[in-house]
Amino acid sequence: MSNFPLEVVTPDRIMFADQASFVVAPGSEGVLGITAGHAPLLTALAPGVIKVNLAGGTQELFATSGGFLQITREKVTILADTAELSGDIDLERARRSLQSAEQQIATTIDPYTIAELKAKATRAQNRIRVAEKRI
Ligand code: ATP
Repeated sequence: MSNFPLEVVTPDRIMFADQASFVVAPGSEGVLGITAGHAPLLTALAPGVIKVNLAGGTQELFATSGGFLQITREKVTILADTAELSGDIDLERARRSLQSAEQQIATTIDPYTIAELKAKATRAQNRIRVAEKRI
């Protein structure tokens, strides 16, 4: 299978750059499977898991809270709001974050705050799932 350059960029750094053979990403309108030669594309990403098959044959998993994915003829770039490699996720932090968000949702009235807390809970649930490799 042909390879292509992949970059995962967060607001503060290029957190990953390598040759990939296959990428699965949570597009906002459905899961995207990307191989070399994919048509150029710009799409929003939903919170979820990014699976990367590396040219060397190993696989990396990332949790992302969303962002954008761009495919050009040269490379695939994921501009993530947040992204963590599965092995770098602090599971206890994610569990605390989920518990705190759920407790606050139960006692909050303001709909805007509830929406923010639900998004926080979704990020935490996704991190837990990716850290535990329940994907
Ligand atoms: P928390 O309540 O734990 O801060 P959050 O969902 O509000 O979680 P974010 O705003 O999504 O956190 O992320 C802030 C920064 O912290 C980002 O750089 C993100 O990659 C990192 N981060 C958040 N949670 C974790 C985690 N459980 N393990 C590793 N890094 C994390």
